[in-house]
Amino acid sequence: MERPCIFCRIIRGDAPAHRVYEDERVLALLDINPCSPGHTLIIPKAHVGRLENLSEDDAIALFLALHRLTGSIQRAVEAPATTIGINNGPESGQEVPHLHIHIIPRFKGDRGGVVQSVARGYRRPSDEEMYKIAERIREAIKEASKRRD
Ligand code: 5GP
Ligand code: ZN
Repeated sequence: MERPCIFCRIIRGDAPAHRVYEDERVLALLDINPCSPGHTLIIPKAHVGRLENLSEDDAIALFLALHRLTGSIQRAVEAPATTIGINNGPESGQEVPHLHIHIIPRFKGDRGGVVQSVARGYRRPSDEEMYKIAERIREAIKEASKRRD
């Protein structure tokens, strides 16, 4: 049988971690290689690689944990701000194939960037192109909601 991923091993208690929060569906732990003090990962306990494959109940639990923890993390490390993000799929740079939200405390003058800086190679599209993209997204959302019915 395939070896469980590192986050599944942490969830089971088979690998060590600095755990900061846990409930029935979610675990939060310090990132082993932090970008800043207090860099925290929130993960669903279910082994799911990508956000779009998460169940709605786990999505609710994950965002609720994010909502509850962000202020406390900021206060604990006296950070005035945070950057929050998900590397969703290998092409985005995701290395651990178990969904996780990064909460990265930010400090004045920390020389970090904004989330929009992760993909800079794109030119500004024309209004017509924007219309077409928006239309395709609206269609895809409609299709997905039909599949859920
Ligand atoms: P991503 O998959 O979003 O690129 O990043 C994975 C993150 O998980 C990295 O920031 C990395 O430092 C962290 N990480 C990888 N292995 C472990 C581990 O064994 N324990 C903890 N606490 N974090 C880990
Ligand atoms: Zn896993």
